Amino acid sequence: MDPSVQVKAIDAQSVHRITSGQVVIDLQTAVKELVENSLDAKATNIEVRFKEYGLRSIEVIDNGTGIAPQNYDSVGLKHHTSKLASFEDLTSVMTFGFRGEAISSLCALTESVTVTTAIAGAKFGTVLELDKDGSVRSRSGKVARQRGTTVSVTELFKPLPVRRKELERNAKREFGKALHLLNAYALVPCTKENQGVVFTVTNVTQGRKAVQLRTDGTMSLAASVSSLWGPKTMENLVDLDLTFDVVTEASVLRRRGPDSNVAASNTIHVKGLISKFTVGGGRTGTDRQFFFINGRPCNPTKVQKAFNEVYRTFNMNQSPFIVADFVIPSDSCDINVSPDKRTILIHSESNLVEALKHALAKAFSSAPSTFPLNTT
Ligand code: ADP
Ligand code: MG
Repeated sequence: MDPSVQVKAIDAQSVHRITSGQVVIDLQTAVKELVENSLDAKATNIEVRFKEYGLRSIEVIDNGTGIAPQNYDSVGLKHHTSKLASFEDLTSVMTFGFRGEAISSLCALTESVTVTTAIAGAKFGTVLELDKDGSVRSRSGKVARQRGTTVSVTELFKPLPVRRKELERNAKREFGKALHLLNAYALVPCTKENQGVVFTVTNVTQGRKAVQLRTDGTMSLAASVSSLWGPKTMENLVDLDLTFDVVTEASVLRRRGPDSNVAASNTIHVKGLISKFTVGGGRTGTDRQFFFINGRPCNPTKVQKAFNEVYRTFNMNQSPFIVADFVIPSDSCDINVSPDKRTILIHSESNLVEALKHALAKAFSSAPSTFPLNTT
């Protein structure tokens, strides 16, 4: 590098676009962020509407709390959130969002972002059109709207031509990935102790509308799996209910300090459903495997690998269908690792994976034909 070159600040608009492109990586993270906002707003009805596999528009309609007028101006601003009061809150955060980056990123990465919202008691809804920098470009009142929020984005990635081209080229595959993630989010209400959610996803292509997935708002995981994949799939699954202890690594204990009253081991619960190993989940690989940590969908690669490894010692030819929610003490995992929040750092992960393998093998071998599976 020429030593006379000056180190300069990047202009604000470019910074916004660069950092936004890390939060909203692809179609699935775009729609994930919107659905998370609806779940955070305690919606019991969430509808996701795609047009042309999400290429034209993505719209998420909910019946949640709505947005109060005093917050209209901050909804689209970077690092503005209603969910985190102080930095210390980060370890105990229970909401999906907490960084105030999603709406602001979508503003920078799409052609338009429109928010229509009404709070309880409001006679009308308000339509907010947001600008590229997240500020409110126009506000109009008096549209018919029940309590809740609709966020509509058009032409995802239009400001990033290379990414837009990639999305267009792989539209159906990207749409498939988004649906997979939406399946996981449709199961979230069953893993958390809250109300059931009626969850609907549709796609309109060439003027024809197709329902992609739907749940009926039940709190039962089994009923939701039945409505998403059919009763036949459900018949081949058994309850997963594991409890095991994981020794906490010394480094974690040290970080917690000498006065810490945190135990040297954590008790982990894993709840969900898994294929009977006599039946299997088909040869389709791992596309029907869903993992959650404390009700938050995520991709714990090593945990997934452990499940498949143990399963294959009982059924060599197939991969199981898995829905597994890990209940882990919140101070033992860090959800703020990657911008898209899909990677979660689990303290003492290798110890957890070993303990999990042991518990799974024990459950499968001690109850080969008498289900449900459990270690308790
Ligand atoms: P975060 O979710 O991290 O707070 P977002 O950019 O996703 O950040 O959203 C910014 C804010 O907009 C939220 O904190 C919330 O107050 C409001 N908001 C966004 N979507 C909704 C929604 N569907 N219902 C109610 N409020 C919403
Ligand atoms: Mg959010």
